Amino acid sequence: MDEPYDLVVRSRRAVTPDGERPLVVAVRAGRIAALLPYDEPPPARETADLGDLALLPGLVDTHVHVNEPGRTHWEGFASATRAAAAGGVTTIVDMPLNSLPPTVDVASLEIKRKAARGQCHVDVGFWGGAVPGNVADLRPLHEAGVFGVKCFLSPSGVDEFPALDRDGLRAALAELASFDGLLIAHAEDPAALTEPTGPTYPDFLRSRTPDAERRAVEQVIELAAETGARAHIVHVSAAACVEPLRQAQRDGVRISAETCPHYLCLTAEEVTGPAYKCCPPVREAANRDALWQALADGVLMGIVSDHSPSTPDLKVPDFAAAWGGISSLQLGLPVVWTAALSRGYGLADVVRWMARGPAALAGLPYKGGLRAGADADLVAFDPAAEFTVDVAALHHRNPVSPYHGRTLKGVVRTTWSRGVAVDYVTPNGRFLTPGR
Ligand SMILES: [Zn+2]
Repeated sequence: MDEPYDLVVRSRRAVTPDGERPLVVAVRAGRIAALLPYDEPPPARETADLGDLALLPGLVDTHVHVNEPGRTHWEGFASATRAAAAGGVTTIVDMPLNSLPPTVDVASLEIKRKAARGQCHVDVGFWGGAVPGNVADLRPLHEAGVFGVKCFLSPSGVDEFPALDRDGLRAALAELASFDGLLIAHAEDPAALTEPTGPTYPDFLRSRTPDAERRAVEQVIELAAETGARAHIVHVSAAACVEPLRQAQRDGVRISAETCPHYLCLTAEEVTGPAYKCCPPVREAANRDALWQALADGVLMGIVSDHSPSTPDLKVPDFAAAWGGISSLQLGLPVVWTAALSRGYGLADVVRWMARGPAALAGLPYKGGLRAGADADLVAFDPAAEFTVDVAALHHRNPVSPYHGRTLKGVVRTTWSRGVAVDYVTPNGRFLTPGR
């Protein structure tokens, strides 16, 4: 007789890489030890029978601005990772900016790890940053375990994280190519951006056009092709970027791109206040439809939150002056699921976009899927239940979100991180590095 498993989770609706099916997930030592027939649950120390609730792999969110240390009053590792777990996200990768110092060398990476240690309720990895003058830091950052480096091609919103110009971008890509590192880029062409001519959302929207985004994407494509480096465009907002990306991917350029819940689920027409402000901006309804098509086609590899919170006082009514960033870490799954369902997509699509795709981008072979050998990051999800968003009830540190008051479909009932149910008290998260 074999040892009993540590945990067995049964669901009639387990979402596997091969689609939805009744299944038992058997867990030992934090890993999925076996996928077994639903009707034959093996002996285990603990059994969770989800019945008709869906069982998803924990989602992987590779675009989160935690802001600690330095701007912990915007968000910190404890609040961010609680919000992640409550939203079905069991892996986050933290962005190198908005925290202080920004993660642009190994010393600042160590400061960030020290700040995060002992606080994380889900697994956490880190991006480094590529800024003017730090090309020599990129390889040491890679060797210290970042998943890649982020750069901006236009002003980032914080002075301590300046943008790269064309020569700086080329130099960073050339250096990254020498060790097969990954560059992730905020792509808006500063030469095509203008100052808003007034305080309203239409004024702001006109100042950051699809053309500005497309031109920057084309520059990254061109220099990725020239250097042979791997590059990734973060938060694609403009549908105008899709065709250049599709063509580059066909041509064999090593370029991928993501989008975010807000670009898929919100529209410029419905913006009511500065909680909706982000860069690049939320655009018109027709643009949104093209982004869904690009996800379906695989030109966009996935959906990540770009959770970029601030304190409420920075969200001033003037759209030109308000902080640009949307808070959504805990809400990404129900936001996307609600919209996906109305467009005829299924849970397997959502898992492909929000778990498998981001895990592949970051190079996390043990994350993002229900399969033997993977980490037992599991989510019990009620896809039919509805709830109305109350920002004050979220784990986010600050009660600012454009989703406040919306009724969404899909409720996370339980989240397991490496086989242990997250209790929001005991921080069991680990630090991740590529391949681990
Ligand atoms: Zn971001």
